[in-house]
Amino acid sequence: MNSASRPDTVSANGLRYHWPTRPVVVVCIDGGDPAYLRQLLADGAIPNIRRFMTQGFATVADGTVPSFTCPNNMSIITGTPASKHGISGNYYLDVATGQAVVMTGPELLRGDTILARFAEAGAKVVSITAKDKLRRQLGKNLDLRRGNVSFSSEHADRCTLAENGIEGVLELVGQPLPGMYSMELSLFVLDAGIKLLEAAHRDLMFLSLTDYVQHKYAPDEAEAKRFYQALDQRFGRLEALGAIVVLTADHGMNDKSDAAGEPNVVWLQDLLDDKFGKDDVKVVCPITDAFVAHHGALGGFVRVWLRGKATVQQVMAAIVGLPGIEAVLDKSTACTLYDLPADREADVVVVSDAGTCIGARAADHDLSGLAGHRLRTHGGVSEAKVPIIVSVPLNEAYRLKAATATPKSWQVFDYALNGTRTSA
Ligand SMILES: [Zn+2]
Repeated sequence: MNSASRPDTVSANGLRYHWPTRPVVVVCIDGGDPAYLRQLLADGAIPNIRRFMTQGFATVADGTVPSFTCPNNMSIITGTPASKHGISGNYYLDVATGQAVVMTGPELLRGDTILARFAEAGAKVVSITAKDKLRRQLGKNLDLRRGNVSFSSEHADRCTLAENGIEGVLELVGQPLPGMYSMELSLFVLDAGIKLLEAAHRDLMFLSLTDYVQHKYAPDEAEAKRFYQALDQRFGRLEALGAIVVLTADHGMNDKSDAAGEPNVVWLQDLLDDKFGKDDVKVVCPITDAFVAHHGALGGFVRVWLRGKATVQQVMAAIVGLPGIEAVLDKSTACTLYDLPADREADVVVVSDAGTCIGARAADHDLSGLAGHRLRTHGGVSEAKVPIIVSVPLNEAYRLKAATATPKSWQVFDYALNGTRTSA
């Protein structure tokens, strides 16, 4: 498409986004808690990120609560809070069947992705995610003809033109298929993005990593440093290719183990079974996904659905005041406070503090994957602070906007596209 026929702006879910004059690459560093940046900036380990922060823009934004991967990636890619896009966890309870349902289907995502709207208008767009569970929602309604691309590094060996808009990804990147639990799964996403940008012009790219490293290693551990150095080098390469590089995260990460290294867990289904009888209420851990080895499906936010006699007030009274519990909310309070979709919300929402996580039944959580590591996980309000870093300065309107109210991470494309536009 030549510049004469491209629109000045593209609208997605009620907001207008300016057409980028240079490639814009938004990277979601999964589990990229601001603590990693603080540590590695102090170590002098991430010079490119430091330069972006100095020459461009940097802030700590509010992510979506629950601070899980799926809700936050959908917030970022649609430019809306969860109340609009509808993805409020990895799982929710289908009250008709009483079964927990995985929330990764594109039919559950409400509204459009910013990428799909730009592709429709003729932009060249790319979406690459580490975990395949995100791929179909990130690629919702994305026209994969005309050079647009959507795939995961987890399934990089299975890409077809029809499903992904690309084939031969392993050959393109020149690397073997990365392991599901490895830092290479994330680095592959960035290396593929770099290869695609080297090969042809792209208007808009979204590169979403995995939090394997952050679940396993604290900011001061050598492996975390090695990972961030590898990221930093690739961010530098993207910038050298002419891109505006925008970094954010889906959620943070906290150590939730005690002095002896044992996880601090509130086993909520066990506790409520004891109080009200087995299965009178149903606890759903919305962190649950195929990648449970590094967190054992333990997170900082769970949902409780009433299934029998116990009332909302009785359930809340049984949980309030438990050590490590930060908030116990009824449905409408939780939806108002965290901007969540009411039709997918539970009767009671429970949030743990920074040092504690919540599980359902102790017998149902497999913690063997921790293999001697301290439990690090996320989901609560204490893991909802995320960085937004832009490699170029913001225009005056967006500098003012950021100074006036804490940015939300669902505004990252707004900052990336509208905030970097200079009046030509
Ligand atoms: Zn995540």
